[in-house]
Amino acid sequence: MSNHNIHYTITPSHPEAHIFTIRCTVKNPEPTGQQFQLPSWIPGSYMIRDFAKNIIRFKATDNKGNNLDVSKRNKSLWQVQACTTAITIEYDVYAWDLSVRSAHLDTTHGFFNGSSVFVEVVGQADKKCNVTIKKPSGKQYKKWRVATSLETLESELYLFGLYQAENYDELIDHPVEMGEFDLGTFNVNNIQHDIVLTGKHRADIPTLCADLKIICQTQADFFGELPDITRYVFLTMVVGEGYGGLEHRSSTSLLCSRNDLPLKDQPQTNEYRNFLGLCSHEYFHTWNVKRIKPEAFQPYNLNKEVYTEQLWAFEGITSYYDELALVRSKIITPLQYYEMLGKTITRVLRGNGRNKQTVAESSFDTWTRFYQQDESAPNNIVNYYAKGSLIALALDFEIRKATDNTKSLDDVMRVLWQDYGMKKIAIPEKKIEQIASNIVGHSLQSFFNDYLYSVKDIPLQSYFDLVGLNLKSYLSHSVDDMGGNKNKEENNTASFTILDARIVSSTLGAKLSHVYDNGNAQTAGLSAGDIIIAVDNVKVTKATLEKIIQSYCIGSILLVHAFRRDELMAFKVILKTSNDVNTYYLEIDAAATNEAMINKNNWLKT
Ligand SMILES: [Zn+2]
Repeated sequence: MSNHNIHYTITPSHPEAHIFTIRCTVKNPEPTGQQFQLPSWIPGSYMIRDFAKNIIRFKATDNKGNNLDVSKRNKSLWQVQACTTAITIEYDVYAWDLSVRSAHLDTTHGFFNGSSVFVEVVGQADKKCNVTIKKPSGKQYKKWRVATSLETLESELYLFGLYQAENYDELIDHPVEMGEFDLGTFNVNNIQHDIVLTGKHRADIPTLCADLKIICQTQADFFGELPDITRYVFLTMVVGEGYGGLEHRSSTSLLCSRNDLPLKDQPQTNEYRNFLGLCSHEYFHTWNVKRIKPEAFQPYNLNKEVYTEQLWAFEGITSYYDELALVRSKIITPLQYYEMLGKTITRVLRGNGRNKQTVAESSFDTWTRFYQQDESAPNNIVNYYAKGSLIALALDFEIRKATDNTKSLDDVMRVLWQDYGMKKIAIPEKKIEQIASNIVGHSLQSFFNDYLYSVKDIPLQSYFDLVGLNLKSYLSHSVDDMGGNKNKEENNTASFTILDARIVSSTLGAKLSHVYDNGNAQTAGLSAGDIIIAVDNVKVTKATLEKIIQSYCIGSILLVHAFRRDELMAFKVILKTSNDVNTYYLEIDAAATNEAMINKNNWLKT
């Protein structure tokens, strides 16, 4: 059946118990004893996850079916006894992680990333391999199909059966969905693009396909061409509450909420715009990070952390263009784009962590900090996606300014694609800074020193002047006010700050999930995890806490009762006004010059 040296078979053997069974036959194993290894992390999600912990059985046999000894060398590495014939290993994987990063199987569908299920044949990672994807046995699975961008050797798409990959790196870069899914198809530059929806939904697939087609086309035109793909697949798992995406070389896995998707003949919602932003983000990664990639990722060492300071470029620039592509595609209006930008600015400027950690440090330490956020995250770390996207915006405008609007960040991206990504040359640290400097014709090092390697705030207004936008700000006290919108300011009647904490509901009262630096709650000694049950001896809940506190005057001293470790504690909270603004939005400058209007049209391609 298989003429390659390595052949995997994956069977959803017990969907009700969330078990995939994998067999791997190696025709020419290492004669002194073949080793097998599973990755500890998945590219695009920078955290050690030790996928091998889900392998619950592992055995090996020779070509006559005799058992071979297997010993474990480390948490993710198996050693099979020396054998000169072909060997077959068999193991089970427990798949019960409903995320885009691992594997999930039940009686309704199956999903896996190769990095969670296929062990690498050590020493033969560069070899071609075949994979047989099997259907679960039983009548109830009769209608199941397979969706993946892995190259199929079957006569049609979406069938169970034989697939193949050029090497191990490719094998684990095509996630696979199986089940009864809905499908939409469109073409970009004559390449088939599919969107696959698993889970209960009422989405209007023609609208989804029409919008995605325009976004994908905008990006293909931006780079001048599609990368070397034969198909592209948006694998989408629809759930009640969820959000996530992971990029791959010719597909992406997405997790979204039912309410994010468009309904037939209904107006476009904010949630849907955010979902399109997510699709746009992952699609942009097909160039930026899957092919234009940092040196540290070529090749990936999936056994341990690999370090780069460049994630601001791979995630931040991607985040900048994911929304810009929506307005350039005319999927959203410029006003809707400014609202999105205002929210990002609000998110960045609200976090005190931006004064303590540089974006380069956040990128380097992502393994233990950004990907392992605790209650102190807003105080202690900076988000390299959000601040990275503002650095990208500032860099874009810096280049436009310096070149009299003849060049932009778009040109940097095209150089990165043509001179590096397309030629499979990885990007050394600091190379992007040099390329940008070359394009403007003078060194931009002080720009990068300020915003990338130190914690200076970006002078955003000086850049927005160029396109006739005013950055406005105000002090908001509403937990739900994420910024971006002038109307919220007008409705914001409260005149003093509340607790300076993020509040979630709890069965007992109002729980503090995050307590911000130097705010009223922190000054009074309240901590994340405390459950506030009463203010001035009156019971409160999450719903009533904000209102009750706002009914007191500035300078009032409140008696706050809260549980910590089940102990009832009393705190004196002094209601201080913060003079700091914390919420931002963009307004069109009515007095903007003609030149600014031209610059704006150039930027948004309107
Ligand atoms: Zn990303």
